[in-house]
This record gives sequence, structure tokens and C-alpha cells, in this order.
Amino acid sequence: MDSEIPFIRPDFPPTPEFAEDYARILASNRYTNFGPFEEQFAERIGSYLGEGLVATTFANATLGLMAALEVVLGRGDGTQGVLVPSFTFAAGPASLEWLGYVPVFIDIEPDGLQPNVSSAQAALDAQGGSIAGVLLCNSFGIGNPQIDAWIAWAQEHHLPVVLDSAAGFGSRYADGTPVGRAGIAEVFSFHATKPFAIGEGGAVVTHDPEIAQRLKSFQNFGFSSAGTAESLGLNAKLPEFSAAIGLRQFSRFDELLEQRRTVIAAYMDALTPLGCHFPSNIETSSGCFASVSLPPAVSRKDVLAALHSHGIGARSYYSPAVHRHPHFASVAQVVPLPYTEAAEESMLSLPIHADMDPKDLGRIIDVVSASLA
Ligand SMILES: *Cc1c(COP(=O)(O)O)cnc(C)c1O
Repeated sequence: MDSEIPFIRPDFPPTPEFAEDYARILASNRYTNFGPFEEQFAERIGSYLGEGLVATTFANATLGLMAALEVVLGRGDGTQGVLVPSFTFAAGPASLEWLGYVPVFIDIEPDGLQPNVSSAQAALDAQGGSIAGVLLCNSFGIGNPQIDAWIAWAQEHHLPVVLDSAAGFGSRYADGTPVGRAGIAEVFSFHATKPFAIGEGGAVVTHDPEIAQRLKSFQNFGFSSAGTAESLGLNAKLPEFSAAIGLRQFSRFDELLEQRRTVIAAYMDALTPLGCHFPSNIETSSGCFASVSLPPAVSRKDVLAALHSHGIGARSYYSPAVHRHPHFASVAQVVPLPYTEAAEESMLSLPIHADMDPKDLGRIIDVVSASLA
């Protein structure tokens, strides 16, 4: 029997590096509440992404989404809507609901996975003045090739944009600029399953220092510098141990990104000629996993079964899409979602590890190729 190939295998710093940080944290007697590791990590995130971007760390991206939406849109009254694709992870629509907004699901591109502007326009036409903003997603962390058109459209309609770029730390937009620069704020996850992994953690980045200040207050009980609550907040702080891992991750992240992109290129070279379709711009993404749309006549169930029978951890993200999850099924559907529903059926997600053995990669490609034949 071949050895198992897990879907995700995160790259964490070697034990001696973490042991050194652990000892320093114990000696400093500061474990959380914006200690030196957290402060450096936040600075490093901002400077990695580019000049003028301020990063605020979070205990996870879901709390980051809630904070960003609260700061940018304020709280909803339970009837206002926010446009959000259904082809995403449930945390985005759930954050909207926590904040008192109704997720108004929009479709994705006919030939891609990214949210579609025409669908947003149709939803806006249908809902008119009750739409408060847009929670855009960089699907699978891939920089949306239409990002500038999206932002221009939203500006034209006076809709603030927050981006869920959870898996996209290290990804680039089509013009080469880093994911993180768009909209009013972009939200990243450092969950163990993401390319920049620290276990649990996240960050919200923005060009606006005042928004950054309010994000920081939100994650610290709504406290001002006087230590009294000025607004409604939560505890969403990133502990020092997690920040220390994050700082260590930077020392090898670019190299690991290159390795992940080599795996993407190998999948594309082998599977595109067989009729598989890769999302555009995936080659400059962080490579969380390789999402590929199978040719129309192929049964994804069969391909997945073949992969699993060979011990290969493949998945079918996002199936079902969020509008078909039991909790969200009662949310009124404002526009049809035909491309989302087609993608649900055809998308296959293949593993990417930075240190993937070429033999393992060959095995995955062989199994997929054989089940397409
Ligand atoms: C992973 C992910 C999240 C959630 O991130 P956490 O850090 O686990 O809260 C949200 N949105 C998308 C699109 C994701 O992929």
C-alpha cells in the first residue's frame, strides 16, 4: 500500500527555534496583550505587504472579519443586506449575521471562481437602498483578476468593500501587487490549513490608521487607551506564542511559496491538456491547495473515490456552497446562482505541500489522469 498523502501538511518552525522563543516569553513574563512578539509580527505583516499598510493581528480570521465589518459598516439592524458570494467559506456570511446583516448571495464568474460584478449589480437592482456594503472574497486566496473593476463598481455605488482573503497571504493580484491592498480592509487567516500557518490566528490590513486603531480597540474589549470601553468589543487578541511562530514563519515563507507554486505548475502542465481548468491567477497565489474544475463529462465523485482509495487526501471545496448549508438555506435568494451551483459539482481540490516529494506529486497526477481517461 502506498503511503498516505495528506491534503494539508503545514510547515512549522523547527522545535529549537520555538523553544528559544518559548524561553524568551517565559523570561519576559508577557504572554499576551500586545507584547513584543505580537507588536513585531503586526509590523512585519504590514511591511511584507507594502508601504502604507497597517496590520492588526487577530486570534483568528473570523474575529478579524467581524471586527472589520463592525468598523467599516457598523452594526446592521437585522434587515440590511451585504453582498457576499455563496461560493466561499461559511465564516464570511456568518460574520455578517453576527453583525446584524443579511447575507445577500451573489454568483461567481461564468468561467472562474471569483465573485461576479454583473450578479452584484442584479442583486443591487433587486434590493436597492438596503444594501450596506460588499464582503468580497479572493476565492481560495487567489487574487481576483477583476479586483480593480470590482472596487470601481463598488465606489460608483458608494458601497464599502471588505475582502475575505483568508487563504491569500502571499498571493498577488494580476498586476503583481500583493493581495492585501484592496478595498477598505482585507482579512487574512493564519490557521493551520493556510499557507502562512501559525495554528490559529489572523490579521486585518488597511491603509487607514484610524481604522487600524478601531480594529485594535475592537479586539481588546472596545477599550480606549484610557482602559475604558468606548465601543462594543470582544477579546480577539493574538497570544505571544502564536506571534512568535508567525515571526519565525517569515524567515522561510518566500521560499516555501516558490515551492508551492512549483507544485501548482506541475498540476497545470499535466492536467490542463486533459481538459481540466485552473482558476486564473492561481499561479501567483499562495497555493493553499490546487482547485481545479474537472471536464464536464467527468464525475467528481469517481475522481475523489479514486484519489481516496490511493490514500490521497483530496477535497471538494466549496461543495455545498454556503446558500445550501442548512443554517443559510432559509436566507432569501435575490439572484440566481447558476455558476456557483455548477462549480459546486465540478471543483476538485488537490493537495499542495511545499516539500511535496516529486514521487507523491507524480502519483496524484497519475491517479487523476487515469480517472479522467
Ligand atoms: C479559512 C477561512 C476563513 C476562516 O479563517 P479562521 O482563521 O479559521 O477563522 C474565513 N474565510 C475563508 C475564505 C477561509 O478560507
